[in-house]
Amino acid sequence: MAANWRILAERAAPAECAAVVKADGYGLGAAPVASSLLRAGCRTFFVALPAEAVAVRAAVGDAPVVGVLAGYLPEVAELYRRHRLSPVLSTMEQVAAWRAHRCAVPAFIHVDTGINRLGMPPDHVEALAAQPELLAGLELALVMSHLACADEPAHALNAAQLKAFRAALAASPTPLPGCFANSSGIFLGPDYHFAMVRPGVALYGVNPTPGRPNPMRPVVTLRARILQVRQVDRGESVGYGATFVASSARKLATVAVGYADGLHRALSNRGRVACHSCLAPIVGRVSMDMITIDISELPHELARPGSEVTIIGPDYDVDAIAADAGTIGYEMLTSLGRRYQRRYHGAGAPA
Ligand SMILES: *Cc1c(COP(=O)(O)O)cnc(C)c1O
Repeated sequence: MAANWRILAERAAPAECAAVVKADGYGLGAAPVASSLLRAGCRTFFVALPAEAVAVRAAVGDAPVVGVLAGYLPEVAELYRRHRLSPVLSTMEQVAAWRAHRCAVPAFIHVDTGINRLGMPPDHVEALAAQPELLAGLELALVMSHLACADEPAHALNAAQLKAFRAALAASPTPLPGCFANSSGIFLGPDYHFAMVRPGVALYGVNPTPGRPNPMRPVVTLRARILQVRQVDRGESVGYGATFVASSARKLATVAVGYADGLHRALSNRGRVACHSCLAPIVGRVSMDMITIDISELPHELARPGSEVTIIGPDYDVDAIAADAGTIGYEMLTSLGRRYQRRYHGAGAPA
């Protein structure tokens, strides 16, 4: 993950490379993720919600900026104050409330340039620039916007958003520094980099350039154990709903991982599992705690009770399992369950 941050930082330079560690570090653990990225050189972190920022602040210490993408939520004002959180202000009301909050921490302004999700319209940025009293006493770090289609380089919305963002920044008499690109946005080229980039998913090894070779290093390996091996005869069914019926005698293994662990039920009769570089298909439905895989083609010694199989790894990566599940790597990672034994490797891994 640290290597991925360096790859992205190098590509985006001279822009600063921040890191998005929302949703518990995309499911991988906000504290170990943030402290590892801090050691790699990252100095700005973003979370979605103020409560998520508490663990990140504890992991990175006082100096780094910890931004809250949801904006300023006055009902938890105390969290912002105590943990020195930087809101990404997305309405004029939030700007006013933050000014009243009187916290000497830099804030961001979020302008919506076409995703129509969060952020103020570009003419509100103009209004802020034209009326400096609205920002009086408020330290402004950057103006931010978010791309809707960065993973589709040919999509017309990318250039349209870029144009709108440039116009919003130019509304100010003193040029405002911008922050625009998520992971995929970094790969749209230097026009999209501005003063800061804020990748998330690419840090965790998901391909930010779908359809092209993955420029990132893999981060997650997920393994599970075979509980039992059995033979089924032609015509026998497997699992809930009897959705798989053997067309010939098959050898099956039952593996201790299921949808409660984030192995989406959509992988029923679709997903695969790696056993020493061979891919064994999931047969029957994914259940809460188990899957059944067809190991008929595997040598006996590779798949016995107690053997480990690889759910996510080099032969079947997070993008491949996501595609089989009909989703994206983001959702696979953030769905990873709580009952795995998690091991962190590398310098500074937590004990
Ligand atoms: C989640 C998010 C990011 C990170 O996006 P990735 O596609 O994971 O790189 C950046 N900016 C905003 C506003 C986000 O919500």
